Amino acid sequence: MRKILECHWDWVLPVKVDSIGRRLSIQVRKLDPLNAEHTGLSGMVEIQDDLKLAYFNASESINRQRFALAHGIGHLVLGHVISAAPRLVDGEDGRHYSASNSSQMEQEANNFAMQLLMPKDAIDYVINQEKVNNINYLAVKFGVSEVAMHARLKNLGWMYY
Ligand SMILES: [Zn+2]
Repeated sequence: MRKILECHWDWVLPVKVDSIGRRLSIQVRKLDPLNAEHTGLSGMVEIQDDLKLAYFNASESINRQRFALAHGIGHLVLGHVISAAPRLVDGEDGRHYSASNSSQMEQEANNFAMQLLMPKDAIDYVINQEKVNNINYLAVKFGVSEVAMHARLKNLGWMYY
């Protein structure tokens, strides 16, 4: 993850998750509301031949779109999508529907998304430099939900409850 951020992140916040996906040779697409296979999904990733695709749901909030995309990029980068199981879908309620579902892969993809959207160095910098102690401010600045920011701050040791 550190390498991905070093190579592809311009230190601008919020992190441009779609452009980082493209720089990792992942095509970013919207789920098609008219496609029955896409109904009820928050995100989906697949490999078609050698093409890596990450989909997001354009009708969800921007923050959810960003998280779903970062999560999907995580599935692809972490090798969760393989030729034997070329597609992984994420439901709107956060559950997987695919047969290859595993809660460990979900957790790994969520960790990847948290690190991508809320890089440790950036969080530490903003908190130290701007003397911020307001979760809402940080959530807006990083383009994530307050719930996600709260989890990340706990994870980084900035909060204990
Ligand atoms: Zn997932």
